[in-house]
Amino acid sequence: MDLLMINAKIRTMDAKGTVARAVGIRQGRIDIIGTTQQVLQTKTQKDEVMDLKEKTVFPGFIDAHNHMIYYGTELMGINCRTEAIRSIDVVLDAYAHVLKIMPREDHRHRIEHFTMAGPEMIQRAKRLGIIPVVAATEVPFYGDAFIKNLGPQRAECCYPLRSMLDSKLPVALSTDRPFDPVGNPLYSVQAAVQRKTRSGHVIGKAQCIQVEDAIRMHTNHAAYAAFEEQLKGSIEVGKLGDFVVYPIDPFEVDIKELPQIPVSYTIVGGNVVYTGQD
Ligand SMILES: [Zn+2]
Repeated sequence: MDLLMINAKIRTMDAKGTVARAVGIRQGRIDIIGTTQQVLQTKTQKDEVMDLKEKTVFPGFIDAHNHMIYYGTELMGINCRTEAIRSIDVVLDAYAHVLKIMPREDHRHRIEHFTMAGPEMIQRAKRLGIIPVVAATEVPFYGDAFIKNLGPQRAECCYPLRSMLDSKLPVALSTDRPFDPVGNPLYSVQAAVQRKTRSGHVIGKAQCIQVEDAIRMHTNHAAYAAFEEQLKGSIEVGKLGDFVVYPIDPFEVDIKELPQIPVSYTIVGGNVVYTGQD
């Protein structure tokens, strides 16, 4: 059975930010994207048509680092987990050394929990081609402790997402589940946008990013970080038919409400694997 999703707001998250109305999935892959009419014109007897009635569709979110699946992605490059400024610098030293004696094109080596970093470190990561993986959900969970233990000024160095984007680093977001007990990518997006601790302090306001930026970190960038940008991370012809469908558009709600948006459907390879609120 193949699937045609029509009358939807398809946020493709492609490079141009294209919004389409319909998408057709055949044999697990995206076959056509366009208007509802264009997609329905390709209908055959074995296609199931799903009228999404203005719901919003995103490519499947990718959790770039958690403690169930990241062992698999380790096979594609070196993953190092580090958090404090000094330890990130030590790992960057090690990468610089290894890449000098064993240069490798497009290595996409990563640093997991790239948490505290100043401008020089970000530039160094850029020069070495390192991909930072950041768990922004730690801001609500640990942000108050950072302020208490590091002082407000140093706490602002945590999760410098705006600076990473300005430096064109393909930073990927993760939930770090199960250490983040919520495990909701929209909660992660909210944390990256607001940078608000549990007690309501905003740490490093200048490092706040937009909802679209954060969703790109959970889609495009996370796919790139796992060498999977040909398969995942955006809704484009040839990629996997993996989607999340929301009843309202996460781009258009108040940021405070973002994590409360329920999932209408989760679709994997063109098959509906979860049905929530209609
Ligand atoms: Zn972790």
